[in-house]
Amino acid sequence: MEFVDDPELVGQVRAWVGAANRVVALTGAGISTESGIPDFRGPQGVWTRNPKAERSSHISEYLRDPEVRRQVWQARLASPAWTAEPNAGHLALVELERQGRLHALVTQNIDGLHQRAGSDPALVIELHGTMREAMCLGCGDRGPMEPVLERLRAGEHDPPCLRCGGILKSATISFGQSLVDADLERAQRAAQEADLLLAVGSMLTVSPACHLVPLAAAAGARVVIVNADPTPYDDLAGAVLRAPIGEVLPRLVG
Ligand code: NAD
Repeated sequence: MEFVDDPELVGQVRAWVGAANRVVALTGAGISTESGIPDFRGPQGVWTRNPKAERSSHISEYLRDPEVRRQVWQARLASPAWTAEPNAGHLALVELERQGRLHALVTQNIDGLHQRAGSDPALVIELHGTMREAMCLGCGDRGPMEPVLERLRAGEHDPPCLRCGGILKSATISFGQSLVDADLERAQRAAQEADLLLAVGSMLTVSPACHLVPLAAAAGARVVIVNADPTPYDDLAGAVLRAPIGEVLPRLVG
């Protein structure tokens, strides 16, 4: 990761943020790495280190292979997200909300750290679902994750739905699964209403989330990207900040 400190550019973006009334933040795994949760495709990313892990993120594999489910559940149980605390990046977005500038917080993250930081759940749109709930792929029954983790700790490897016996999974969107229409529509509407779209900690390669960036730009929003790596939308942005998120976001909203 190569970070560049550009105080002048930071000052410029800070002025834009200060003048904005409807900021839409679009966050990705990069905002949570400083909380100890690895991203997927960054230098220390889960898939960068173990490309095979990407396979288990396809819903067809999960449905087909009990061994994949066993591995996914063990990884879920061991996730650093259960004990992770929000960091300065999450808190900066809470501050933006307190200032009355945050129109929506669209996240690709499943870790729930925005809400834990204090972001109003009504403003948070979790495009890829949440790992804090479990859902039956058969009957659709949904509930908190903790009781399922308890069953894993007690020795179950692939805990079935207690209501119908179907296959349980975290309430997250895997590859091959559709996003929730209502969530995507809300996010698209928010992007079109934004005066500033702040894309933070995302490679902007996962569709349809990444399409929110050109959508906002086409509707007239200024785009600011904060990410260590280049993204396909850097050319569209008014500014690209290649800086550590937890360090630079507080400077943008302070
Ligand atoms: P990604 O892994 O594709 O990209 C993350 C980007 O953030 C990388 O470019 C990385 O270099 C950058 N980054 C990491 N830490 C940073 C820091 N401190 N400062 C600046 N930049 C930093 O992530 P994505 O675009 O969100 O797509 C991955 C998918 O994986 C998403 O769908 C997301 O749902 C899921 N995911 C979620 C979590 C989580 O909930 N915390 C973790 C891993 C993956």
